[in-house]
Amino acid sequence: MSLIFLRKIRQAALPFLLICLSVAALSECVFASNTAKEKYFKADAAYKKLKDNYKIKKYRHNWLACIKKYDAVYKYDTSGPWAAAGLYKSGLLYSELYKFSNKTGDLKKASIIFHEVINYYPKSEYRKKAIIKLDKIEQKLPKKQTSTTASSGKKLSIPGLKCIVIDPGHGGKDNGAPGYNNRVNEKTITLDMALKLAKHFRNNIQCKVILTREDDNFLTLEERTRIANKNNADLFISIHANASKNRSAHGTETYILSHATDKEAARVAARENNTTVEQVSDLQLILSSLIQNSKINESTKLASYVEESVFKKMKKDYKNIKSKGVKQAPFHVLIGAHMPSILIELGFISNSMECKRLIDPKYQDKLCMAIFSGITKYVNGVNPASYTKKKPKNATEG
Ligand SMILES: [Zn+2]
Repeated sequence: MSLIFLRKIRQAALPFLLICLSVAALSECVFASNTAKEKYFKADAAYKKLKDNYKIKKYRHNWLACIKKYDAVYKYDTSGPWAAAGLYKSGLLYSELYKFSNKTGDLKKASIIFHEVINYYPKSEYRKKAIIKLDKIEQKLPKKQTSTTASSGKKLSIPGLKCIVIDPGHGGKDNGAPGYNNRVNEKTITLDMALKLAKHFRNNIQCKVILTREDDNFLTLEERTRIANKNNADLFISIHANASKNRSAHGTETYILSHATDKEAARVAARENNTTVEQVSDLQLILSSLIQNSKINESTKLASYVEESVFKKMKKDYKNIKSKGVKQAPFHVLIGAHMPSILIELGFISNSMECKRLIDPKYQDKLCMAIFSGITKYVNGVNPASYTKKKPKNATEG
């Protein structure tokens, strides 16, 4: 009888115990979060004091004490909501400290920390900030110490190619064109290809390689060109995949910024600009003055090299490879770019055969090699930097 009574008590007490444990766990979680938050604000207050007072900031130990405070925020709960902020700020302080210490070691520490922010917190808002800071740091660090050139000593140095910006079209809420295979969107293919192309440049050429996006992020068209201009890029390569209601349409084409060559080019620009064909016509009217500032001759040459290389190399291994040639259209993403810029349409993802090929890693690798080869052939033949000093006499190429 007493045993049954005990069991009953246990049964009755179990839910109560579970509730108590949950509340305890929850309050511990809230407590941890609050504490990390408190630590962060304390570190922020110390940083503000440091920034505002020259007497304090000229001493290295004051900077290190502040960095320690941010580091404590990160280490307190590395998977908590304040960790990325704490880590980022400690990197930021090392880069600020460098301005006083002039020690490359401080810059290197900042670089390592920003890399950690990028790799450990891919979804954090601090990732983007870290990428921007890292780019600036890598410009200051001696070439051999930058992440883009550290892995190999056998890289080719091409005069005139110091920085290339690769732009994977679309991203985030903008899926781009839907594929024939309905699980595939343009934004995924462009990112895959851009990452491969960037890696290939980083491994083989001694130059800075910047991607406008490295994951599924949304960026406006203006932001993409701005990144290229801000970094004084020598080349801007925007990567896209084509689509058409006509499911048999296939082939690659490479565009430069200008008035639309034909109705088809205007249609492609309308789709990529996310506007109507009529709006593309309006854009053409205001385009004339902008085109004068764009590097139309160099861009045409670059586009021709890439389109030709893709056609020649891909047809060696694949059937039905078609080049639709070099075309012109008013692409929003190319407007305002200060360097030779092209937009590559890798193929039609609305076409059954090309959609299948564009998601095949082997095909992607070969296509990437062909684009790389076209770009380097162009750069080897021309020194893009020289065009910023003097204009070419005649537009004979293209
Ligand atoms: Zn696109």
